[in-house]
Amino acid sequence: MVVFSLTHDLMSLEQFLEHFNTEEACADFLFQVKWPDGFSCPRCAHRRAYTTSTRRLPLYECASCRHQTSLIAGTVMEGSRTELRKWLLALFLIAHPDKGITSLKLSRTIKVTYKTAWLMLHKIRHAMGEADTSTLLSGFARVNIACYGQPYNPTVFRHPQQQPLFIGASMNEQGEPVYVKIKVIPDSHMKDWNVLREGPEEFEKRHVKPGTPVEIIAQRYKSNRFKQLLLLFREADKWINDTFHGLGPRHLQAYLNEFCYRLNLKLRKAHIFERLARLCAGSRAITYTALTKAERAA
Ligand SMILES: [Zn+2]
Repeated sequence: MVVFSLTHDLMSLEQFLEHFNTEEACADFLFQVKWPDGFSCPRCAHRRAYTTSTRRLPLYECASCRHQTSLIAGTVMEGSRTELRKWLLALFLIAHPDKGITSLKLSRTIKVTYKTAWLMLHKIRHAMGEADTSTLLSGFARVNIACYGQPYNPTVFRHPQQQPLFIGASMNEQGEPVYVKIKVIPDSHMKDWNVLREGPEEFEKRHVKPGTPVEIIAQRYKSNRFKQLLLLFREADKWINDTFHGLGPRHLQAYLNEFCYRLNLKLRKAHIFERLARLCAGSRAITYTALTKAERAA
């Protein structure tokens, strides 16, 4: 589905701002992204609604069950008072392939408080993480241990800022990665530099589709390492350091999720802004009624 004809990832910031210059333009775009086939009640899936446009955002009342909903209900933007223009601009800046964006930079660019910008970015990264959780590695998978946090400490003891992690990928028949995940290895699965058996087991259980052939290299200095994966990790490491100038372990996973989200769309040559808008505006929480209705219809 192409929501509008411009190729967003090639759009300049100026073109973007020109296109999304009013709240109405942003609301139209979000409506198309959220309900590509026209309105659908999130409670009963009825297709007709009465629209009230007197508020900041239009309110839709289902013509069948009277349930009231808005463009941001059930989305990443739910409960936010921030203008849609600012949200979409935040998505555009995150989708931009080459540059990362920090909370400080976002707060200055879209003129919101640092706290608001921080929260927006984390909500968006959370949605990216959820999307990743529901995508398991398949086909055949390769996984290699890597380490975030330079400079490398050559001793057997691990510095608290050094974070071991697994980079894993679904590989195609040509042996190229087609979907990549980078996951922090919990401290409970490490003993100094050694990964305990639970480390790879847990990764496979949580991130690899059952029955998928998987090769895991869990020792750092093994000679037959998957260099391709380690090169991708080096890109992630560089992006984090260039954008955030180093990170503590607390939010590392969220930033890795952001990196992988963009990388995976790039590998599929998908339009990142459009996909991100769909992710953030999609009603992720399908209701019980809608679910059972769909089952009955099937
Ligand atoms: Zn309804």
